[in-house]
Amino acid sequence: MQSLKLWKNLYDKLGNDYLRSTALTAADVLGIKKDIIRLDTNCRCNIRCIMCNSKPYKSQTPYMEFRDYKKIIDLYSPTTRMLYLSCAFEPLITPDFPEYLKYAKTKGIPHVSFCTNGLLLNESLVKTLIEYGIDEMILSFNGFCKKDYHRIMPGSDFDKVCRNLKLLSDAKLKYHSEKPKIRMNTMLLKSNLSHMNDMYKMIQHFDIDLVQFRTLMLHEDLNNPDEVQNELPENQSFMEYKKMLNSIKSTANRLRRNGKKIILPDSVLNRQTPAFSMEAAAEFHPGQKAENIKKHCSVPFFSYWIDCEGNVKVCGYDEKGLIGNALTDSPVLMNQKKYHFRKQALRGKCANQNCTINVDKSRIL
Ligand code: SF4
Repeated sequence: MQSLKLWKNLYDKLGNDYLRSTALTAADVLGIKKDIIRLDTNCRCNIRCIMCNSKPYKSQTPYMEFRDYKKIIDLYSPTTRMLYLSCAFEPLITPDFPEYLKYAKTKGIPHVSFCTNGLLLNESLVKTLIEYGIDEMILSFNGFCKKDYHRIMPGSDFDKVCRNLKLLSDAKLKYHSEKPKIRMNTMLLKSNLSHMNDMYKMIQHFDIDLVQFRTLMLHEDLNNPDEVQNELPENQSFMEYKKMLNSIKSTANRLRRNGKKIILPDSVLNRQTPAFSMEAAAEFHPGQKAENIKKHCSVPFFSYWIDCEGNVKVCGYDEKGLIGNALTDSPVLMNQKKYHFRKQALRGKCANQNCTINVDKSRIL
């Protein structure tokens, strides 16, 4: 976790995308692992959160076969620093998923992480996580009372997820293992924020290391836009908003004494809407300008998004970032496309003019 912070601070400190791209290219030449891969081993989810817009897509293969996964990991592991096994879908649906985690670790990737709703976490997976020193488990969790949880994350089971988390925290305690660190991904929803005390108890009880509050991405095709609209903290009065912020800060103070942290986007501390899209910002804050739009971008110099069919993108937000298929296309051709897209992005010529990736900063409280 510490080394991740170091890399992130270094990246932020460079402050200019031309400098960043030069440093990242130099790292490539020097053989320093610096890439971040987000890889989906399937294209399904087992629940339907109200704020999610990931839709299962038609794929020739619902899962990435293990032999294909190995091929991809073999290809990318020499330059990969961080591997996130799952990007938009639920990884624990993939048969034999523990084998996928193990393989990444045995190939020497320094940081191996996966993001799950925790519903299918079981003893065999917990054993793998501890035995192979998997670095991080990111838990998507919203609703700190049963009623809210089932409304926000339909299809999941509050009691079962809590039992599974207990399984993991007990095993970590039994084997004196610090890993996997548990990061809880929680959306900035009114009902989450009004249950800070329940959140605090949960963090303590399951020994969660970090809570990362995330702002809602206001896409058109959310699973339940009406529920989301009711949950937007921006709809609160200024006084209510202030009260909510104070409650987050005091919870963060209590947690800090136990070595635990909360991460909150700057935009929330300053009460702005992160402008993921101009339309969304205009809709929710009429008259407010979408600020902080990215002009030059070095994200494709270190990022890969890979879907369960092996398609590789160097930008998750612009279709032109697709550089080919790692299982069928020639690496030489893919590299040519990658370098071309990198140049375009660095000049601010990618197709997504409203992209704010890496602009919305967060703060550890
Ligand atoms: S859409 Fe453009 S600015 Fe955004 S991450 Fe991709 S390349 Fe960078």
